[in-house]
This record gives sequence, structure tokens and C-alpha cells, in this order.
Amino acid sequence: MTTTVTPQSLDGNAIASVIKAEVAADIQKLHAQGIRPGLVVVMVGNHPASEVYVRNKVKTSAELGMNSELITPPASVTTEELLSLVAQLNAREDVDGILIQTPLPPQVDKKLLDQAVSPDKDVDGFHPVNVGRLQSGQPSLAPCTPAGIIQMLKRSGIPISGQHAVVVGRSDIVGKPMAMLLLQENATVTICHSKTRDLAAFCRSADILVAAIGKAGIIRPDMVRPGAVLVDVGMNRITSQEDFDRFFSGNAKREKTFKEKGSVLMGDIDPHAFALASYYTPVPGGVGPLTIAMLMANTVRAARLRRGLAA
Ligand code: NDP
Repeated sequence: MTTTVTPQSLDGNAIASVIKAEVAADIQKLHAQGIRPGLVVVMVGNHPASEVYVRNKVKTSAELGMNSELITPPASVTTEELLSLVAQLNAREDVDGILIQTPLPPQVDKKLLDQAVSPDKDVDGFHPVNVGRLQSGQPSLAPCTPAGIIQMLKRSGIPISGQHAVVVGRSDIVGKPMAMLLLQENATVTICHSKTRDLAAFCRSADILVAAIGKAGIIRPDMVRPGAVLVDVGMNRITSQEDFDRFFSGNAKREKTFKEKGSVLMGDIDPHAFALASYYTPVPGGVGPLTIAMLMANTVRAARLRRGLAA
């Protein structure tokens, strides 16, 4: 007898709302102790694409009851000038979280900046000290996107312990910390990347498959084990009719968007594969909203850890 499983879409917006409500309640408790967590976002130059995203971060933090500040140095800023700004922010008592938005202009040394942010205010979790803390299981600030994915899985009642998790992608901001967090949750973890031989075979062996690649629909239905949990981190904009037809033919809602905007957003997983999954994260509306929610949670966590309060 074969049993058919109805794939369940994981609603990132709903889970993010719950997390943000928890963060707001936590902030109220800190207010009662005379503490007002503060987040500073540094956005260099003009980037219409990241501007909406950055303003959303600033707006959300203010709405949740934090001090929230946006600093916008010009595109001509030097690494030295940014290092001096970061030093000032590190020294400010009213600042708990510092986030430097990418992309940065080519003259700016991003690695140097990541290392200059105080590890205690590093709400992105990129500082080598936080990478090390995460690796050795000490209280740390974990990168927001993978931390959000763990929250999403846990809050949806999806077991992680003992599962085979395959992470495709090994970037410092998603793939590597994702693998480390899954390992901490007792998954058996495999990391794949562009040099992996027979990617399909690894993917087919996954109970939980996390795609963090940045290439539209590269994970095909034949690479997915029926019943697997599919987590799609990729954010790709497709603009060609050929791509659209390949991935979304017959999808009236997407067709409307494509006609209106000339493009649609999709992940790294071919949407046809979602039909095989037990759970999957849609793009948009899956992993994306969790990233901002976890940035808020990390800022409050930083505020607590810096003052020696339980996080
Ligand atoms: P990177 O470009 O830094 O890393 C991509 C990874 O994918 C690399 O490790 C690369 O391997 C691997 N890769 C590339 N091609 C292949 C292939 N053909 N087969 C297997 N592996 C491959 O990207 P990021 O990690 O920064 O981001 C990944 C995606 O996630 C992007 O679409 C990004 O926009 C999205 N994203 C979404 C977020 C959200 O909030 N939803 C947040 C952050 C990112 P190698 O190391 O060998 O080059």
C-alpha cells in the first residue's frame, strides 16, 4: 500500500510574526529595567534593491521598541573611514547591534570591517569570534538566515535530531553556519558545493535538504526523495519567458506577476519538486521573512548578553 503525503508549505511570514511578537514582549521587559536595545544599520551608497530591505530592518526595530538608527556614508567612503565609524559605534553604550549592509563598494575591505565590529554587537554573526563560539557550542550570535531556518523547523514540529540534513552551499553567511546549527541539533550533516561529484545522489539521500546556492531551480524533482523537507534559501529573479515556462507554466498567479513586472522571484529548488516534499519553504514568503525576525532577536540577545543577563 502506498500512502500519499500532502506537501505542506511553511509560512515564513506567520512564523516571523510570532518571533517578532516574542521579541517585542522581551523588549518591554528590558524597558522595565531601564534598558532600550539599540540597532544601527550602516548602508553605504545607493542601492535601490537593498534600500527597501534596510528601511524594513530599521522600521521593524523601531516598531518593536528599539532605538533604531540608519547611517548612510557615501559610495566614495574609504575602509579607514568605515573602521573609524565602527570604532565609534563599538564604544557607544546605547548601541547593542551593528549591521553593515552588503553590497559594499569595491574599495572597501569587507573582511576587515566584519572583524572590526565588536563580537558582542555583531548581530550578523560574521565575526570570527562568533563563528568560533558557534562551532564550540558557546552562547553566540548566529547568522540570521540559518538561525531563522532552525526556528522554522522547530516551530513547525519538524524533527531534526537523527535526520540526514544535506546543505547545498558553503558560504560563510548561510551554508557553513547552517550546517553547524543543524549539527548542534543532532542532525547528520553533509555539505555540498560546486565541486561536489554527483550532487543529485547526495540530495536524494536527504531527509532535510537546504538549498543555498543562488541558481534558479537547480535542484530538480529527480534530486528529491519523496517525503523530504525542502528548505529553499535561494532568491533568484527570472526574467526570460523560457525560464518562466519551465518553472511556472500553468501557474496563474505567477503568470500575472510575470506579465506585470517582467520578472518573478524564485528559489534554487524547481517548484515542481515541492509536490514531493512533506514540508517546503516557498519563495517568496518562506525563509526570507525569518531573516529580519532573527536580526531583531539577535539584537535583543546581544543587549542581554552584553549586560550579563540570561539570553
Ligand atoms: P554564495 O554565492 O556566497 O554561495 C553559493 C554556494 O553555492 C557556494 O558555496 C557554491 O559553491 C555553491 N554552488 C554554486 N553553484 C553550485 C552548483 N552548481 N552545485 C552545487 N553548489 C553550487 O551565496 P549565499 O550563500 O550568500 O546565498 C545563496 C542564495 O541564498 C542566494 O540566492 C542568496 O540571494 C540567497 N540568500 C537568501 C537569504 C534570505 O534571507 N532568504 C539570505 C542570504 C542569502 P562553491 O563554494 O564551491 O563556489
